[in-house]
Amino acid sequence: MNKLYKCLIYGGNASLSVLDTTELVQRATDIHGLDDASAVLLGEMLTAAAYMAGCLKNPRGAVSLTVKPSGGAVISVSGDADGHIRGYIEGAEGGLGGGTLTVIKDDGFYRPFVGVCELTGGGVSENLIRYFRDSEQIPTALSFGADVKNGKVKAAGGVVIQLMPGHGEKDEKAAWEKAEALSDAAGAVFKHGAEGILREYFGVQPDGKGVYLSFPEYKCNCSRKKITGVIVPLGRAELESIIAEQGCVKVHCHYCNKDYTFTQDDVDKLFR
Ligand SMILES: [Zn+2]
Repeated sequence: MNKLYKCLIYGGNASLSVLDTTELVQRATDIHGLDDASAVLLGEMLTAAAYMAGCLKNPRGAVSLTVKPSGGAVISVSGDADGHIRGYIEGAEGGLGGGTLTVIKDDGFYRPFVGVCELTGGGVSENLIRYFRDSEQIPTALSFGADVKNGKVKAAGGVVIQLMPGHGEKDEKAAWEKAEALSDAAGAVFKHGAEGILREYFGVQPDGKGVYLSFPEYKCNCSRKKITGVIVPLGRAELESIIAEQGCVKVHCHYCNKDYTFTQDDVDKLFR
């Protein structure tokens, strides 16, 4: 089962999140039939989305992260306040050099926050550390990881320590030391589990007071009804001309790799 633990540490000067996303990443790998390198990249991004979705306060909140390295690849992940996480990857053999990382955070209250930062190589973790520092101005020590071999996810997860305003130098140093010690996040999840990481590395009891546990999962929010809402504005004539050309209207959901098809009969019903 996927897990996200959250609590405060260092006397309230930092928030700690520990994630086990092994199942979630396995599901994404299966749905998309990913090679191992792509599964690792998407898996780390999905773990980041699970973390950021877990920070949303409003039930209508949502977050999405899109990585477009200069080689033309795309990795896109989204999550909502229910902990429903989804994503896809296209290309990305060249890693995360050049291009941009765009984060759209809709807290459900105000206008969505949009943060863009440049990708400067390195992995998902390095780029997100920079994103939090430069776009959100939050010093963040983190480590995300996924270990995938031959389509089988051995472990995936991560650790995030975000420093609060008013934190001391000592807290910041301690946070970076922990992130360093947990630089192989997948290895730590495999060896200790999320609970073990809390206990071994932070002296936190998983069932203790002030420790919150939630269960992110891979889930797409698409539906036939939603897709219908997307195609109807095209108008009857346009849909019929697509059917005349291609036999049906086919809409592909990138996130769950599912096709929705609409026949002439369906279109007749939509415009009756
Ligand atoms: Zn879908």
